[in-house]
Amino acid sequence: MLYDFIDGSMACANAENAVAETVKYIEDKGSAAQDGDDVIVAAFPTMFVCDHHPSDHCSFTTQGGPWPPHCVQGTRGAEIHDDLKPYVEEALTFYKGYRKEKEQYSGFEGINDAGQSLYEVLDIMDIHNVYVCGIATEYCVKNTCMDLLKAGFNVYLLKDAIGYVEHEGHLKALEEMEKAGIRLV
Ligand code: ZN
Repeated sequence: MLYDFIDGSMACANAENAVAETVKYIEDKGSAAQDGDDVIVAAFPTMFVCDHHPSDHCSFTTQGGPWPPHCVQGTRGAEIHDDLKPYVEEALTFYKGYRKEKEQYSGFEGINDAGQSLYEVLDIMDIHNVYVCGIATEYCVKNTCMDLLKAGFNVYLLKDAIGYVEHEGHLKALEEMEKAGIRLV
């Protein structure tokens, strides 16, 4: 949920709404985790996966790729939406697409500042159920969900908390994911 996918060079449909739904979801889960006498700290860790491109990334039209330049390191377009910043933790923030010659739709192999991949951290934290939201359904969301599923996680897609490039493609991707065993919630 980076600015270039919300109101920037690759602004997607339902993006602002997806951010609001995500905040609502995190808040609900957070308070549920603190119900009763036992406060379970970080029962629902929130992880961020960020497109993080150099200015000459191979996916850009300027380099012969399919997309307009977006999420260039150090620009506003590469920043997480302000409403989500309170939930950002460095160790749980993963970057992808940072190598000029490599396109990465999936966040599965994204790495944090310590060099750990999303997969490694999920494994270390002994997490089995992953709830996914983000932008865009047809590309990064779908590829991330599919990789998580293949690796054996239970994957839940927050269907109101996703933005998309194009409505028909969005619906098609939802159908594909559901068929594969991803649960839409
Ligand atoms: Zn990208």
